[in-house]
Amino acid sequence: MTTPTLYEWAGGHEALRRLTEVFYDQVLEDPILAPVFAHMSENHREHVAIWLGEVFRGHSRYTDELGGYPAMLSHHLGLGLTEEQRSRWAALIARSADPDLALSGLVDLADAVRENLDDLARLNVHDYAVPISFAGNAILLERFLRHFAGYIDKLHGATTPVTGSFDINLIEREPYGVVGVITPWNGSLVVSGSCVAPALAAGNAVVLKPSEVAPLAALRFGELCMDVGLPAGLVNVVPAGPEGGDALVRHPGIRKIHFTGGDATARKVLQSAAANLTPVVTELGGKSANIIFGDADLDAAAMLSAHQGPLMQSGQSCACASRVLVHESVHDAFVEKFVAVIQASTIGDPLDPQVVCGPVISQGAADRILAVIEQAVTQRSGELIVGGKRLGGELAQGYYIEPTVFIGVDNASALAQTETFGPVVSVIKFSDEAEAVRVANDTNYGLNAFVQTTNLSRAHRVARQLEAGSVWINTFSDISPQGPYGGCKQSGFGRTGGLEGLHEFLQVKNIRIGMR
Ligand code: NAD
Repeated sequence: MTTPTLYEWAGGHEALRRLTEVFYDQVLEDPILAPVFAHMSENHREHVAIWLGEVFRGHSRYTDELGGYPAMLSHHLGLGLTEEQRSRWAALIARSADPDLALSGLVDLADAVRENLDDLARLNVHDYAVPISFAGNAILLERFLRHFAGYIDKLHGATTPVTGSFDINLIEREPYGVVGVITPWNGSLVVSGSCVAPALAAGNAVVLKPSEVAPLAALRFGELCMDVGLPAGLVNVVPAGPEGGDALVRHPGIRKIHFTGGDATARKVLQSAAANLTPVVTELGGKSANIIFGDADLDAAAMLSAHQGPLMQSGQSCACASRVLVHESVHDAFVEKFVAVIQASTIGDPLDPQVVCGPVISQGAADRILAVIEQAVTQRSGELIVGGKRLGGELAQGYYIEPTVFIGVDNASALAQTETFGPVVSVIKFSDEAEAVRVANDTNYGLNAFVQTTNLSRAHRVARQLEAGSVWINTFSDISPQGPYGGCKQSGFGRTGGLEGLHEFLQVKNIRIGMR
């Protein structure tokens, strides 16, 4: 049986084809989107059709037509072509005399990403309104590709002695096969880099499912994979919503799932993966503490806390330092500087290069964040000193929320314990190091922690006591291909980046040769 390619499948579906036409009518009239899409190939348009299928599912006039969509996604994931490409690709890496061919494929892809950074950055803005000044995080995608390309000819194993014999005991690492990568809306390109690059370097094929809310940059990445000559079927970009994600997780041909998103969704993913005992990596949210000690450089700490807190991506970042713990000796001085940085920041149109803080992702998100603020005020979780409202004036039509600061926050409150995923931070005063560590760890999450201090001994001592996958001392959460990133506790398990991130896409085999 021949499995249709993604393109054949989408093109063959009349409802999606019609939606594509509707979409292009709108896009070609849009002064911002039109130039971005102008160069896209016919194949890519078919990809967009699939995305549209999900987007328009939310519009009642299309719901009936597309009722069967998840089932079709499942059908598409027959994965015949992908499986075929996977085995060729894996052979190229593991057995061929010329792994350079695979290596140059990933290097060419990194080059193509570099050449298209501006496009990718603009698509990032359209995907989730991240200010263009940060949207260049496509460069991380390029770095991950270059970094992991270098592993292709270095995927070595080990030999170990065996007690009581001279047997040869080999420990080797092999790819899983076809792996599924599910991304959140805030950063599909970073996740493409941190997951697709090592998955390919390890010899796997990938089905990448970006969020239905933000599929554009990932689709362009998929197109670049094809442009540089990676075989069709090796990297599949399938934008879909929860039903499509669930179909991917349940598919018996998917050998491992890498999921980045919220903890509530992760629980569903783990339940669905249980059907086939499919292994899952989870990269989830956080409620990260940012500890400002009395000896910190307060100007630098204020700058970092504002940008790592409410400003960057309007607080919609898994790494948001949403709990700022401040030593009592510098509390008032720090708060003054912190607020000054926030108030001096430019909020507005994410396509303006001067803007550091844009809107939140949707009306629903804006309503949810404002409800969190209102509840915190009503329950007296802390004292609201800055922000708290939706922005008016010229920005009234957008989903703009003022960067918001509460001081004197009770760490047991919902405000301090729930991931707000918006521009809202809690300031909490502490008296000594032990109290700072205790409050920082008093959360279900464990993704990042930040420490501002000029005392080297304290930096080491505190970092070792913090329950977090990453501890950033006097610096931002600066994700890099060399650093294993991920969480502990309810922030997830498994890592992206570093050798640890590569090993997530390899399974271990032990081969023993008896020596008689
Ligand atoms: P989400 O959990 O709503 O969705 C994540 C992805 O899962 C989307 O692609 C979505 O379509 C898909 N999905 C939804 N239901 C599914 C199901 N039943 N089965 C399979 N897939 C399903 O998260 P979001 O709102 O897109 O992203 C925000 C969350 O992601 C926050 O909690 C944030 O902290 C987290 N995040 C974590 C990291 C990290 O590296 N740790 C990075 C970015 C975002």
